Amino acid sequence: MTLPTHITYDAVVVGAGPNGLAAAITMAQAGHSVIVYEAADKIGGGSRTSELTLPGFLHDVCSAIHPLGIGSPFFRTLPLEQYGVEWIHPPAPLAHPLPNGSAVVLERSIAATGENLGDDAEAWQRLFGPICSHWDAIAEGILAPFRPLYQARHPFTSLDMARFGLSAIQSAKGLAERRFQGARARAVFAGMAAHSMLPLEQPLSAAAGLVLGSLAHAVGWPIPRGGSQTIVDALAAYLRSLGGEIVTGAEIKYLDELPSAHAVFCDVTPRQLLNIAKGKLPESYAAALQRYRYGPGVFKLDLALDGPIPWTAPECAKAGTIHVGGVLEDIASSERSVWRNLPSEQPFVLIAQQSLFDPTRAPAGKHTVWAYCHVPNGHEVDMTERIEAQIERFAPGFRDRIIARHSYNACQMERYNANYVGGDINGGVQDMWQHFTRPTVRPDPYSTPVKGLYICSSSTPPGGGVHGMCGYFAAQSALRHDFA
Ligand SMILES: Cc1cc2nc3c(=O)[nH]c(=O)nc-3n(C[C@H](O)[C@H](O)[C@H](O)COP(=O)(O)OP(=O)(O)OC[C@H]3O[C@@H](n4cnc5c(N)ncnc54)[C@H](O)[C@@H]3O)c2cc1C
Repeated sequence: MTLPTHITYDAVVVGAGPNGLAAAITMAQAGHSVIVYEAADKIGGGSRTSELTLPGFLHDVCSAIHPLGIGSPFFRTLPLEQYGVEWIHPPAPLAHPLPNGSAVVLERSIAATGENLGDDAEAWQRLFGPICSHWDAIAEGILAPFRPLYQARHPFTSLDMARFGLSAIQSAKGLAERRFQGARARAVFAGMAAHSMLPLEQPLSAAAGLVLGSLAHAVGWPIPRGGSQTIVDALAAYLRSLGGEIVTGAEIKYLDELPSAHAVFCDVTPRQLLNIAKGKLPESYAAALQRYRYGPGVFKLDLALDGPIPWTAPECAKAGTIHVGGVLEDIASSERSVWRNLPSEQPFVLIAQQSLFDPTRAPAGKHTVWAYCHVPNGHEVDMTERIEAQIERFAPGFRDRIIARHSYNACQMERYNANYVGGDINGGVQDMWQHFTRPTVRPDPYSTPVKGLYICSSSTPPGGGVHGMCGYFAAQSALRHDFA
């Protein structure tokens, strides 16, 4: 492929993931010419859908469940529905089966969820009620950088917002044990917190539990009809309607390959930026990027089944997402093990069963299963057997329904998408330090010391997830600095 070096664009974007496309759209909406170069043959990065197992079975290769998509302050301003996104809300966002054969169901309503939680119903209401009643304001605050420039717009002034911050910085285990008396509430909170990919004893691991729980009650955990690909296809179609161009199959190795532009946005992580911008970055900034840390990886397993998962607890059939891993102590032990560089023997497994609610995903009567667990960064361990054994514990007879499998270990995940360094799906560990300083300590996290060069991936605030906020804020930064 030859890049059009003779054309000057206002903006060039490297990478057509949700954040690269969000940056491109923001620039095009401001009236600027923009072109996006994507290494893969298909746009979308972590939001693609493919027939990974058998013809007719549509598997979400990476993202599947989209509370951050439907709840994104930026996506909400876009005509995604007009370009084909149709959100499907399963009857319940989440079910969490327990070793005694029952399951906790996280319902849309806080009160209905409480009915699952026995004596902890009031504690659940006390924790999530105040956050959910001010969710829009809190979402704008937490889906933006924790830097003075940005938070001035969303000051954590009200008591409820301050309360959110004070809870979020706690460890998930500490918060769950202090707030809840029973195993049921502790388990469901631990499962949501484990999305942080942090040990549940670590400060800030509670934040993911609070955010995902609040999103479940405030906006739901929907799946897009037809698969996650439809989200990025809609972003791309809208971008093209604004005059933006997209070139696929174009891996950018050096900035010098790009057409000249006033602003270049890189939807890549620090390690890749160091290579792409080799020789252009000041030493101190390059050294800061080199210090950037990546977190655990994932092992991804996609299955085709000839029937739904036969859960022991029938209420699991009403949820789009299932967290398999038992009680809080088991989940905490699984995540601790990953941080000690040991793949867990009984991994905490995140499952989506989209075909129960979206008939486009599999032939009639057949089903898809999307599952992954955390593994040490860069580990080539095959977790297929351990993931299947965990599901079988809570759904005896499940294995007999498998008709095809597809898996990616952490290294294959990185080969699939260079942004998943060592299999890290969040573009870098999101612990206390790096949550507030990603990708480096700068008042504006998106700009770099090189004029017109921006980083816009999930390695910037607010971090991982299909929400486009990193790209949106990076473009806003460029509009302030290079186009004012
Ligand atoms: C197994 C798994 C499950 C997940 N589940 C969810 C979920 O349920 N919900 C959710 O919200 N999020 C989920 N995520 C996370 C989500 O996919 C990412 O956080 C999100 O895609 C990040 O978007 P991005 O634009 O920053 O990067 P990416 O989506 O990774 O996009 C980066 C793009 O840049 C391209 N690129 C990289 N280098 C170059 C180069 N040199 N030249 C040209 N192009 C380049 C890549 O090919 C890629 O297309 C999951 C991820 C994985 C892997």
